[in-house]
Parts: sequence; structure tokens; C-alpha cells
Amino acid sequence: MNQLTNTQTRDVEALLHPYTNARQVRLDGAHVIERGEGVRVFDQAGKGYIEGMAGLWCCGLGFGDAEVADAAREQYGKLPYYHLFGGRSHEPAIELAEKIKDLAPDMARVIYQSSGSEANDTQIKLVWYMNNALGRPEKKKIISRKKAYHGVTIVSASLTGLPYNHRDFDLPVDGIKHTSTPHFWREGKPGETEAEFAKRMAEDLEALIIAEGPETVAAFIAEPVMGAGGVIIPPAGYFPAIAAVCKKYDVHMIADEVITGFGRTGEWFGSDTLEMPRNSMSLAKQLTAGYAPLSAVAMDSRMAEAIESNSGTIGTFGHGFTYGGHPVSCAVGAKVLDIYRERDIVGQVKKIAPLFATKLNAYKDHPLVGEVRALGLVGALELTPDGTATPFEQPGKVGAKLGTELLARGVILRSIGDSMAFCPPMIITEAEIEEMFAPMEEALDATYAWGKAEGFV
Ligand code: PMP
Repeated sequence: MNQLTNTQTRDVEALLHPYTNARQVRLDGAHVIERGEGVRVFDQAGKGYIEGMAGLWCCGLGFGDAEVADAAREQYGKLPYYHLFGGRSHEPAIELAEKIKDLAPDMARVIYQSSGSEANDTQIKLVWYMNNALGRPEKKKIISRKKAYHGVTIVSASLTGLPYNHRDFDLPVDGIKHTSTPHFWREGKPGETEAEFAKRMAEDLEALIIAEGPETVAAFIAEPVMGAGGVIIPPAGYFPAIAAVCKKYDVHMIADEVITGFGRTGEWFGSDTLEMPRNSMSLAKQLTAGYAPLSAVAMDSRMAEAIESNSGTIGTFGHGFTYGGHPVSCAVGAKVLDIYRERDIVGQVKKIAPLFATKLNAYKDHPLVGEVRALGLVGALELTPDGTATPFEQPGKVGAKLGTELLARGVILRSIGDSMAFCPPMIITEAEIEEMFAPMEEALDATYAWGKAEGFV
């Protein structure tokens, strides 16, 4: 138990922290962050940290970008709020939607929300609405994947395939199913090749669709790279095989690009990198680089036209949020997308990615490391007791300890169970990558020694 500072006491008396053990934070005190600059944040005690997770995978431009702040200020002065309901509009919303369409020319229309969860909730409502419009009201089930992360609203949390998002929340809701996780290292069978594994994943999906009845299955949703499930990168051939099954049964494909969108994987979208065909996309986080809350669903012409055609029969399209397409958020988004282009963020990620992968791979043979995963500027070290795919008997303890050891050495990273995730701001330089990894060996060794003493390894 720590002696809490005044701010920490006020914090626990006033806040219920999301994704936090409420009892533990009362004992330890919250870590209060005060300011940010470039790839660094500083806490109340003045200590600086490399933010190796870009906040929650969102601050692609790091902290304190004056151009983005100016764009927000300008829009606050001009029109701080307006909505898009009932046919009203404003320039920032139009401009940003045009910019999204420029980057994803297969998308026909854009509708805004404020969070990734709302985007995925909207996706499901749009799929249901579309299928009603297309005269197939029985085609409504959605297939997601185990270990997927799609958010925490009731439907988004149901799409999420992680036990702690379901347990004690009475989820998932009916009509949402989960197929296999494409994690070859952990789920591959002895002797199986990656290509055979990818084929088996597609066969699992097909078997599920057939078992449910293809006429009842509306959509498949996937993150091109699973993020909060532990940074799981599917093997080559996975999405093409999955897409063939979806096509066969006319299953709409939703690419959840909330983490992978806007350069993270070294292409504009993760679905480009992973060859995932898409009928609609969920966009958030790096859409505004975390500088304002905003998300969007971009959809293909079939979905857009079906929705438009339904207006004639049932009138108003009854969906939308007060702050969906907030003008300040849209102005920020438009500026951020301009900056990504001007500073060639995709080129920057491609340039830094090999060093990032080399640095991660340097720990491949550490006794605590089972697998190293990296793509673009997102990656993970998977910790295991003996370097094999066998997980720890008590999951999460060793991962959390490594996180603490790194924090003490000035690096913020996120342990997801026993995967140590990395998702630094996309503006990170080679020197800053070196700095982020500098304490890694020592932190791993300290964690290993602790794990041995505590009987975890
Ligand atoms: N989808 C993905 C892939 C995400 O990673 C997240 C958030 N980490 C969400 C959806 C949910 O976004 P939000 O927290 O903004 O609701």
C-alpha cells in the first residue's frame, strides 16, 4: 500500500476507473499524467516516459502537435457545434468524409460516431437495416472471432471475443457467434503449415456458417491485426481464404480498422496490408490521432444504396448520435489526415518498421519470451514460462510485472495478459525506438528473476 498523494486521494474518491481493478487502485493510487510532448508524457512528479502505446493505440502524431491544436481552436471560433440530423451539414464533416473516401476509394459513404464501440454498434445496425431493405430479414447473425476486440457497448462487447468483457455482463447477446483465432503459433497443429492453418481457419468459418444456416448469417467482422486480444497477426492467405467463404454465402465483411487504420501497418489500412476485402470499415483512434473523439463507418455502394432505397418505404433513417460528426472533431480529423500525407506517415512507418522488428526480435531467445510479433509499428512480445506456446498457469501476472519494471525505467507499454504490446506514436524516430528498447533487457531479466522467486517460471 502506497501513501497516496492528495491528487491520488481525490482521484479514488471521485472516479471509477475504466479497465482498472477498483480495489487495487485504491491501494496503489492512480498514475496521474500531466502533459505530453512528442512521443513522451510526463507525470505529476515530473518524470518523463516514452509512450510506447500511443495512449490507447491512438496518438499516431504523439502529443502536443501545434498544427492540430490550431485547427481545433479555429473551428471552435467558427462553429463549435452543429449536427448532421435532418439534412443539416457542415464543411468539416463533408471535407473529412471526402478525405476518407480518397484514401479508401472503394467506400461510397461515411457516417460518424464518437467512439470505436459506437462505430461497430452502428455497423451491426447498418447490416440489419440493409438486409431488411434487401428483403432478407432472416439474414441477421454476425460472426466475430475469439480474442477479437470491437469495443464495450452491448453489441460491440458481444462482438469482442474476450472472456472478461462478457463475464458478469450477461454477454454476448443472441445472434453473435465467434469463430477461431488465427494465431498460428498457439493454435497451429503439429506439422501443420501456415497455408494449411489458414485453410483450416476458413473451414472453421464455413462450418459455423453452415451450422447456423447461411440464410441467417449477415456479416463477418475482423480487425486485420487483432489488437487488444494481444496483437495477433494472421498468416498470409488467411483473409483471402476467409473472404472466399464470405463471398460464397453473401456475408458482408466488416474491417475494424480502429487500430490498424491510417498507416499503422505500413499501408493506409490494415485491410490493404493483410489482403482483407471489405464492404465496410470502422475508423477511429488515429482518424483524429486521439486529439478529439471521433469515429466513422465507411461503407460500400451496395450498403449505401440499400439504406437510401429504404428511405422510400419507411422514411427517416432512425440512427445517429448528437456528437457524431462534431465539427471540431471533424476539423481535427481533416487536419490530421492532411498531416499524415504531408509528413508521409505511411513512408515513415515503413522506414522505421524494420528497426522496430529487429529490436523486438533481439529478445526472441530470452527465457521469458515465447513469440515475437511485429508488423509496421505494432507488435508484441508473448511471455511464456519456458519459451514454448504453453501459457503461464496464472495468466497475466508476469506480463503485469514486466509492465511495472518498464514503467520504473521510463517506458509505458501495455501488458495484455502475458503479451507485452507495443504501438508507439507513428512519428517515433529511430533514436526514440532505441530509447524505448534500452531498458528492455534489464526489465525482462528483473521480471524473470522475480518470476523464478515467485514460482511462475
Ligand atoms: N475496435 C478496436 C479494434 C479497438 O481496438 C477498439 C479500442 N481499443 C475499439 C474498437 C473500441 O473503441 P472505443 O474504445 O473508442 O470504443
